[in-house]
Amino acid sequence: MFTEMLIGAKFEKGTEAGEPVLNPRTGEAILDLPEAGERQIEAAVAAAEKAFAGWSRTTPAERSACLLKIADRIEADAAEFARLEALNCGKPINAVLNDEIPAIVDCWRFFAGAVRTMPGQVAGEYLPGHTSMVRRDAIGVVASIAPWNYPLMMMAWKLAPAIAGGNTVVFKPSEQTPLTALKLARVLADVLPEGVVNVVLGRGDSVGSPLINHAKVNMISITGDVATGKKVLQAAAKSVKRTHLELGGKAPVVVFDDADLDAVVTGLRAFGYYNAGQDCTAACRIYAGRKIYDKLVAELTSAVSTIRYDLPDDTQNEIGPLISRRQRDRVASFVERAAELKHIEITTGGKPGEGSGFFYQPTVVAGALQEDEIVRREVFGPVVSVTRFSDVDEAVAWANDSDYGLASSVWTKDISRAMATAARLQYGCTWINTHFMLCNEMPHGGLKQSGYGKDMSLYALEDYTAVRHVMIAHG
Ligand code: NAD
Repeated sequence: MFTEMLIGAKFEKGTEAGEPVLNPRTGEAILDLPEAGERQIEAAVAAAEKAFAGWSRTTPAERSACLLKIADRIEADAAEFARLEALNCGKPINAVLNDEIPAIVDCWRFFAGAVRTMPGQVAGEYLPGHTSMVRRDAIGVVASIAPWNYPLMMMAWKLAPAIAGGNTVVFKPSEQTPLTALKLARVLADVLPEGVVNVVLGRGDSVGSPLINHAKVNMISITGDVATGKKVLQAAAKSVKRTHLELGGKAPVVVFDDADLDAVVTGLRAFGYYNAGQDCTAACRIYAGRKIYDKLVAELTSAVSTIRYDLPDDTQNEIGPLISRRQRDRVASFVERAAELKHIEITTGGKPGEGSGFFYQPTVVAGALQEDEIVRREVFGPVVSVTRFSDVDEAVAWANDSDYGLASSVWTKDISRAMATAARLQYGCTWINTHFMLCNEMPHGGLKQSGYGKDMSLYALEDYTAVRHVMIAHG
């Protein structure tokens, strides 16, 4: 197992004490990883700054070739990347191997292609005797900070467009899930010139904060909690850094009476609970029409009670535990507070799993009302609430009545109603008769306190490059 950070061309251990990295399935420590010290954070930023001059002058074809090599190396070593990710996150090994790794490899390949075909405005004579052109150029050193829910995927979403665009990066994985980042750092050091990507380890306060406040950092990209996003904005304000914020979500799912109930139940069973609900697009806030509500609750309850999550043979599991004891306790306390309300019924689940791992039973909270905490706050666990609505205006108003604005879905057989409802939802994404599906060609990102800036797609490449105007006076 790799334990050293990548700073410039060197691999080195952190100089400060860190916290143990845990196996969420057992609650046991996998290893202790020391954190980066102040000198190492400085050295990582300096290495990125030094590398920028050369890397930003490479051609798109040269950068593309590097991204393709990184994709190939991940693909060739998929089993080991998947094993480490499953160990560190508690994810079922098959989910990592069959869902996540192919999407990660494809992300690197997408940006390898995209950077060579980045579209732009035309050049021309907009003042007589002058030719203008628009360029998209690299921004500089990016401080890139990832969460724990999809460590290697978030690393791909952040690094691939950043370095494709000619930037250099200091990357900090979550202190809870650094193992695949350390392994990928070995690949990055082989493929990329010195300093283009640096990987430092540590907690938010001790390592993330000095990084985002560093004067030589030109852009901060973070996926994390809304509270952390606000700290990023404060840090950015000091020296007017660019920011790219992918914060939380609380996805509404509007199910009309005419929806295909089987498809809804199958969809919610999969997309409400995938990754144990630790997903900012999780289908967690259901609004069901008056007529479909009772059947939906009954069938969802029975479907969710069959989700396999804590079997000793991990190849049989559909979801895993939560990332930490703290996260499991947080989820449990949300459900306990909801269960105290008279109008709420926990129709399945509602308890932590047995043993020392951080498991929580897949849970359905029926009868929830719009003002309930369980409907309003991000639980980030295997918990779905169901609320009854009376008409489309109420459903849309409740769906939009949220601090978050990342993802949403509408379920109906009436495509006109689907389109009309989708148009009224204030979310970065609305799925119709599905949920959760992402592809690297399409943008992912939020509105409101879910943040701004897009991951994946050409829009990410735009976010990680700056538009510039160059004008030439004719002789
Ligand atoms: P978090 O905000 O606690 O941590 C995210 C990262 O930020 C970690 O690497 C952490 O060390 C770092 N960090 C924390 N405080 C910092 C500080 N003061 N300065 C700099 N860095 C700091 O979030 P988390 O608990 O790791 O992740 C879960 C959250 O992320 C959820 O709220 C979830 O909704 C959100 N999320 C959003 C998306 C999205 O695409 N919008 C994707 C995944 C997760």
